[in-house]
Amino acid sequence: MDDTSDNSFDVVVVGGGAAGLAGALTLVRARRSVLVIDSGSPRNAPAAHMHGYLGQDGESPAALSAKGRAEVAGYGGEIRPGTAVAADRLPDGSFLVRCGDGTTVRARRLLVATGLVDELPAVPGLGARWGRDVLHCPYCHGWEVRDRPIAVLADGPLALHQAQLWRQWSERITLLAHTWRLTAEDRELSAALGVRVVEGEVTGLVVQEDRLTGVTLAGGAVVECGALVVAPRFTARSGVLSSLGLPTVVMERDGLAIGTCVESDPDTGATALPGVWVAGNVTSPLEKVPGVAAQGVRAAVAVNTDLIEAQTRRALEAYRARVAV
Ligand SMILES: Cc1cc2nc3c(=O)[nH]c(=O)nc-3n(C[C@H](O)[C@H](O)[C@H](O)COP(=O)(O)OP(=O)(O)OC[C@H]3O[C@@H](n4cnc5c(N)ncnc54)[C@H](O)[C@@H]3O)c2cc1C
Repeated sequence: MDDTSDNSFDVVVVGGGAAGLAGALTLVRARRSVLVIDSGSPRNAPAAHMHGYLGQDGESPAALSAKGRAEVAGYGGEIRPGTAVAADRLPDGSFLVRCGDGTTVRARRLLVATGLVDELPAVPGLGARWGRDVLHCPYCHGWEVRDRPIAVLADGPLALHQAQLWRQWSERITLLAHTWRLTAEDRELSAALGVRVVEGEVTGLVVQEDRLTGVTLAGGAVVECGALVVAPRFTARSGVLSSLGLPTVVMERDGLAIGTCVESDPDTGATALPGVWVAGNVTSPLEKVPGVAAQGVRAAVAVNTDLIEAQTRRALEAYRARVAV
C-alpha cells in the first residue's frame, strides 16, 4: 500500500453497488487503500429479489450489498455513506473528490460506478409498482410472472421488441398501444405471435391486495394483467464524471436511442481521462448484476496495474539517480 494517510487513498470508488463493491474488493485484496463513497440506492433496490446471478439467485439486493460491504471492510476497505458531487484533477494527476456534506478526500485513482436512473413512463401509480410488477427485464423477473397475463406499454419503438421477448415467458401478452402509433407491420407481427393489441392511452394501474391486476384506459375500460412491461430511458448518473470533463453520450440499440452513458474502454473501463475508470451501468446500461460485477473486477485490475506501473517508474528513476551519483 502506498497511501494510507487518514483522508487520502490509493483508490476512491464512487458508488457502492455491485460494480463498485466488486472493484473495491479486488483492490483491497491487492493491498490498496480504498474508500467507497456510496449514497446507498442501488438500481435494483425496488425489487425484493435478485435473479440470474449464479450462487446468489433469489438473494435480496440489500443482502448482496450488505455481504459485499462486509467483504470489502474485512480486508480493510472503508465504506463511507454519502454522495460525491464533483471531483478535480490536481496538477500531480491525483484527484480531490468533493462530497455533498462539504468534506473532501484525496485519491490517486478514481473508479466511478454510480449506475443509472431509470426514467419511467409518466403513468400515475406506475413508479410505485416499479421492480414489483412493473418490469422491464425478463431475465431478471420473467420466471416470476411466467404464464401470467402480461401487458406491454407502447410508448416507443422498443415495445414490439419487448412483446416478442416476453412472449417467451407467457402466451398471454397484450400490447397496449398507449401513446405509440403502431405500424401495419407491427400489427401483422403481433397477430402472427398471438399478441393482442389494445388501443387507447393508459391512464392508471389497478392494484388489489398489493398486486397489479390491470390497467385503466382513457374512457375507463380496464385491461387485465398481472405484470406491466415498460421501457425506461436509462440516464447515466454522471455528475462526478461530468465535473471532470467526461461527457455522456447517447446510447443506441438497433438504431434507437435508449439512454445515456459515459464511454469507456470495453475491456478495462478506462475513460478518456488518465486516472479515471468506470464500471457498471454508468457505462453499460444493459448489463445486469453479474456483468457489472465482472466489469468492476476488470477495472480494478487495470487500476492496480496502472498504480504498479507508476510505482515501478518512480523506483527506476530513484535507482538511476542513486547509481548516477
Ligand atoms: C427493478 C430492477 C430489478 C433488477 N433485477 C435484476 C436481477 O434480478 N438480476 C440482475 O442481474 N440485474 C437486475 N437488475 C439490474 C441491476 O440492478 C443493475 O445491473 C445493477 O444494479 C447495476 O449495478 P451498478 O453497480 O452499476 O449500479 P447500482 O446498482 O445502481 O449502484 C450504484 C451505486 O452508486 C451510488 N451512487 C450513485 N451516485 C453516487 C454519487 N454521486 N456518490 C456516491 N454514491 C453514488 C448509488 O446510491 C448506488 O448505491 C435490475 C434492475 C432493476 C431496475
